[in-house]
Amino acid sequence: MSLTIGVLALQGDVREHLAALTSLGVHAVAVRRPAELKAVDGLVLPGGESTTIAKLARAFDVLEPMRQRIKDGLPVLGTCAGMILLADRVLDGAEGQETVGGLDVTVRRNAFGRQVDSFEGPVEVTGLAEPVHGVFIRAPWVESVGSGVEVLATVGGPDRIVMVRQGSLMATSFHPEVGDDPRVHGLFVDLVTQT
Ligand code: GLN
Repeated sequence: MSLTIGVLALQGDVREHLAALTSLGVHAVAVRRPAELKAVDGLVLPGGESTTIAKLARAFDVLEPMRQRIKDGLPVLGTCAGMILLADRVLDGAEGQETVGGLDVTVRRNAFGRQVDSFEGPVEVTGLAEPVHGVFIRAPWVESVGSGVEVLATVGGPDRIVMVRQGSLMATSFHPEVGDDPRVHGLFVDLVTQT
């Protein structure tokens, strides 16, 4: 069976995610409209600006359809702003900031920002033999997780959670689409295949 994975293409680093998925042999498509959302087996919510993406998702009438499909079990990978969008609860969000939700976590937006805006470094990820090179750009972290959520990676302490999974939902604080290492996308493709 050939898989189709969509990348929500309203704002953010869409092209890089499409390229990473394509390099894994997946049929990767941009998603902006409800009809395009219907056609995918999995979805990536990219990094960018979570408030902007949420507003555009509402304007393009894909916010509610995404919520519904996630309830129905659609696998989703959220990266950076996408992690914020996938979270049920946001700290330090903008006034009235909406999320798509589904992932039973509390994320803190721009969490690393008080010390350093952006940084890079190795991140050990459960399920991968070698660390990935994590690129963090005004990144959120996960501050608390519900009981069904597995912590896959932390940086600089156990309470700085930067990668999680809950069923077929996966999220990273960092940008796995930057660089030529599609292993995190590979973990997501495995999830989509199993779903
Ligand atoms: N700080 C951004 C937000 O709140 C996320 C940054 C990113 O995706 N690189 O949406």
